[in-house]
Amino acid sequence: MNAAPANGAQWVVLKFGGTSVSTRPRWDKIAAIAKAKRAQGKHVLIVVSALSGTTDKLKAICDGHADAGKCRAVADEIIARHRAMFVELELKDAGGLDTWLARLERLLADPRRTDGALTWQAEVLALGEMMSSTLGAAYLTASGVATRWLDSREHLLSEALPNQSAWGSYLSAQVPTARDEALITKLPTLGEIFITQGFMARNAAGETVILGRGGSDTSASYFGALLDAEIVEIWTDVAGMFSANPRSVPNARLLSKLDYEEAQEIATTGAKVLHPRCINPVREAGVPLAIKDTNYPEFAGTEICAAVADALPSVKAISSRSGITLISMESIGMWQQVGFLADVFEIFKRHGLSIDLVSTAETNVTVSLDPTENLVNTDVLSALCTDLAGICRVKVIAPCAAITLVGRGMRSMLHKFSTILAEFGSLRVHLISQSSNNLNLTFVVDESAASDLVPQLHDLLIKAEAMRVEDSAVFGPSWVDLYKKKLVQDAPWWRARRDELLKLARQATPHYVYDLATVRAQAQALRGTIKAVDRWFYAIKANSHPAILREIVARGFGLECVSPGEIAHVREIFGDAVDILYTPNFCPRADYAAGIAAGARVTVDNLHPLEHWGELFAGREIELRLDLDFARGHHDKVKTGGAASKFGLSLNELDEFLRLARQHDVRVVGLHAHLGSGILDAKHWKEVCAQQASIAEKIGTVRSLNVGGGYGVPARADEAPLDLAAVAAGLAEVKAAYPQFELWSEPGRFLVADAGVLLARVTQLKRKGEFRYVGVDAGMHTLIRPALYEAYHEIVNLSRIDEPADELVQVVGPICESGDVLGNHRRLAAPQEGDVILIAQAGAYGAVMSSDYNLRGRATETVL
Ligand code: ADP
Ligand code: ASP
Ligand code: MG
Repeated sequence: MNAAPANGAQWVVLKFGGTSVSTRPRWDKIAAIAKAKRAQGKHVLIVVSALSGTTDKLKAICDGHADAGKCRAVADEIIARHRAMFVELELKDAGGLDTWLARLERLLADPRRTDGALTWQAEVLALGEMMSSTLGAAYLTASGVATRWLDSREHLLSEALPNQSAWGSYLSAQVPTARDEALITKLPTLGEIFITQGFMARNAAGETVILGRGGSDTSASYFGALLDAEIVEIWTDVAGMFSANPRSVPNARLLSKLDYEEAQEIATTGAKVLHPRCINPVREAGVPLAIKDTNYPEFAGTEICAAVADALPSVKAISSRSGITLISMESIGMWQQVGFLADVFEIFKRHGLSIDLVSTAETNVTVSLDPTENLVNTDVLSALCTDLAGICRVKVIAPCAAITLVGRGMRSMLHKFSTILAEFGSLRVHLISQSSNNLNLTFVVDESAASDLVPQLHDLLIKAEAMRVEDSAVFGPSWVDLYKKKLVQDAPWWRARRDELLKLARQATPHYVYDLATVRAQAQALRGTIKAVDRWFYAIKANSHPAILREIVARGFGLECVSPGEIAHVREIFGDAVDILYTPNFCPRADYAAGIAAGARVTVDNLHPLEHWGELFAGREIELRLDLDFARGHHDKVKTGGAASKFGLSLNELDEFLRLARQHDVRVVGLHAHLGSGILDAKHWKEVCAQQASIAEKIGTVRSLNVGGGYGVPARADEAPLDLAAVAAGLAEVKAAYPQFELWSEPGRFLVADAGVLLARVTQLKRKGEFRYVGVDAGMHTLIRPALYEAYHEIVNLSRIDEPADELVQVVGPICESGDVLGNHRRLAAPQEGDVILIAQAGAYGAVMSSDYNLRGRATETVL
């Protein structure tokens, strides 16, 4: 373990929001992000939100506290959701989660529920983050990222503020922060990675309090200040703060860099991506804040720090808040009455209400109440109005929306706003306010007008050059550009060809469908990137469909076969026009004879053939397959190196092999090693090649080194693809050191996996305990990889591709085996009998490995 850091600069605080903690692939992302920080020597504190939707449900319990039946029903949904998550994460020990679920039961039975006591509400709301952090700690630890759970309430102590309402002190609490030396010194003695809850703190009486909706961001920044962190990173579902909410304005531009004040202004005026209170603590502590997309960590995101390079005044963002209540107060009779404002504000103070916008006239003052800062309900309002009625005529205008333009130097841009003001001209504008810090200009309109207005205004701001999007120091790409590109790039071919696939499924299921363009692209990627390889052979066992073989041969590949049957298949399609590399394993003598007769390059991987059938090879050139005594691969069953694997000649038998070769006048002209499949570690091939090269130098007769295949294709959306450029660089290095050798390689799966999908039809649905089973007409007889290698194949409900994939199911086949499961704990759009289910990445080792088991017949194959 590292020594305690001399200063807090080594801490990074990573906050993950609701969507970032709601699925297992996201937790794998979190593990990877935390690991990367550790690898840089940082101490890591992870702050999490509740699983998405959970806080809403807990709030529904608080709001419906009086209705025991409703509370029960909502609680059951929460329990089911968390149990399903536990199953999805494949955790072993339910103890931690059970503790919180039991706590939920106790709170339902608590006498404080009847009148919805604020202390009770705070405890209820806190449960979401308690559960998510508990599940997260267990999953991260099980994933090899040892993570210690902390109770955030032990470290965040809220402060009673003057005139704060009871509601505010329990449900919108604030925490004073300063560098906490004791904590900075203590934590590193307990571990390296910690996880804690956002959204909550404790008050001086030791009670749980809540920081307000969206308050987990603020927890992270409180911890950033306590730990004097190097950075606080807010990981969410969008790559930063944008010039408008990208969900309603897809053309919104990424704000690459902001200073604290601008970010504060954008957050307070409605950009939900940051909780408004989270800027101040980091600003005071001088800790920078970043916003990043958990799903696409490669996107630059937004950086928020003290000073940003000088730029011309520009509107940076347009935001809007709804649910605003305006209180208009008309003074009775007296014109410019001294103390009128003081009297009015005194009443708001008495009710613990904080005012946001103010506009005054000689006889009228209108103010706004922001629901994120205040409990604004009918009881509160009528009590306020009763008191105000004593000194003025009161009018409540609600619901309103406040639309705000934010940017430094707002006043110097007024001349550019003519088109903007024209838009407002046609609406009822209840209030206009220009902030005294010159950072914002706000218009309050009827709530119903806001949603159409904001995208329109955003466009106009760009056209009027009031938003200077050409300044690349501040503005990044638009949200659509950023994500469309990514989505197109990431979208598998089958999404675009859905209609064709559904049509094919109507003809027959189960049905393998192949896309030749994907095969071509993969072949080109390999050949075009890994230039050090001189000769490529496609391992046809992965998929020997003639159309696929033709496509690959047309890209300049030879073919690698492992049996006389495969050789005959190739000769039948191509005659002698294609080069065959023959690599059988534990085959009878006759199989070698067949390979020799077919003119293939024969590979031997054992002493036995030379010891017993030497005359067969006499006077010939052969390839020798070596076991380099290590292996890599996505599963034990695809590792093909080391004594436990049957492949390859052991290195300690090499001398004997060479002696036998000399005895029979056999020349070893090539070395071969293939040590596993599905390898995503780019250095693998270089290591293999370097080892082969040094052995080959000793043998003397070797001309070529075959580094095998095994190029991995990521199975899960969040796995990084193999870095082919790095593979290329590694092999080029070895080649430069040993220019005398030709390099060969024999990919299989890499070329075809993504090119194929398996279509199946839903047969039956069943529920058993926590599990929901979806039966399909494909099974382990159609695609055996999940059963054999625990392989993960993405599965979607193709019939309902546009509906939310939110049912957690087991996708199973019709074979009489418990192992006949195609997908464990998958989220599918509510499957119904007859729906077409697509199993992705089935182009390799799919149809070729299918069987007649249970006499269910084989799948149809179609090449698009
Ligand atoms: P989390 O659950 O991770 O805390 P939130 O839902 O609280 O995430 O915040 C992220 C969301 O904020 C985005 O998905 C987006 O819809 C919304 N949002 C609103 N305004 C903006 C803005 N100006 N820039 C980016 N996101 C915004
Ligand atoms: N879970 C809390 C909420 O939904 C806090 C957060 O997510 O930031 O408001
Ligand atoms: Mg949030």
